[in-house]
Amino acid sequence: MTAPIVECEGVVHIYKAADLEVVALQGLDLQVAAGEVVAIAGRSGSGKTTLMNILAGLETPSAGAVQVGGHDLTRLGRAEQDAYRREVVGYVLQRALGNLAPYLTALENVQAATVTGPPRERASAAADLLGRLGLGDHLFRRPSELAGHQTQRLALATALANRPRLLLADEPTAELDTVSTVALLGDLTDVLREAGTAAIMVTHDVLVERYVDRVVMIRDGRTSSERRWIERGGEVVDDELAIMDRAGRIQLPQAYVARLGLSGRVRLHLEPDRIVIIPANGDDHD
Ligand code: ADP
Ligand code: MG
Repeated sequence: MTAPIVECEGVVHIYKAADLEVVALQGLDLQVAAGEVVAIAGRSGSGKTTLMNILAGLETPSAGAVQVGGHDLTRLGRAEQDAYRREVVGYVLQRALGNLAPYLTALENVQAATVTGPPRERASAAADLLGRLGLGDHLFRRPSELAGHQTQRLALATALANRPRLLLADEPTAELDTVSTVALLGDLTDVLREAGTAAIMVTHDVLVERYVDRVVMIRDGRTSSERRWIERGGEVVDDELAIMDRAGRIQLPQAYVARLGLSGRVRLHLEPDRIVIIPANGDDHD
């Protein structure tokens, strides 16, 4: 595996509002290799957007270690923060319109987001990027004149304008139908793979599985399990793994817990090559 571009270890994030504290991330671990394309899934409120904001350099984690592209995001100064956002990361917000200036055309939006290269090259690079993302015929439209999937495509183009090493996209397909989702993911991953850009995409869409290297599940502010696809006997099969943190904690899949009615204590039995979990309900008194 190539050196990771993203390394999160034990990330904790607490929002403090008045006298209320919300623990949005509680010890999250995640590694993403350079050029790897990863999807993040998990229920609403599980901490996905919080993680994206931290990786984008917009929020500082309350505790834990976060390294992206050689930058320590727990201690970014103002100047380094600007350089980081310009050179390392591109971010599509959960509300993609937030990425776009409403009074600028598609082409102008991408040009305005581009800070690298001489001005004349910027215009042709912007037009080229929009073409690859399927907006070649819409260069002079404003965001309000675009369909939903085109708005998402334009927001992706602005996030990719500076050729980031890491693209972050928060639910880019949330409001799209199946046909638009498949087309967008296909075009986006072509652009990513060609440039070797790593990406973390938040999506609940099972269709994403065809386009990404793995899907990481977040539950209650932690990465709980991960699915990847491996070749076995000439066939691609789905491989689901639980993630163990450094302290040895794992989250059991909710379906397994429900099936055996596990709660409170369980008995662990070590065998030569596995650990067996046995319900201990009803014999808590030994
Ligand atoms: P997701 O993107 O998975 O839906 P979020 O990261 O948006 O989850 O939110 C995780 C938790 O943090 C939720 O309980 C949410 O209500 C809370 N939260 C998110 N943003 C804020 C904020 N700015 N202030 C207070 N609580 C927040
Ligand atoms: Mg969210």
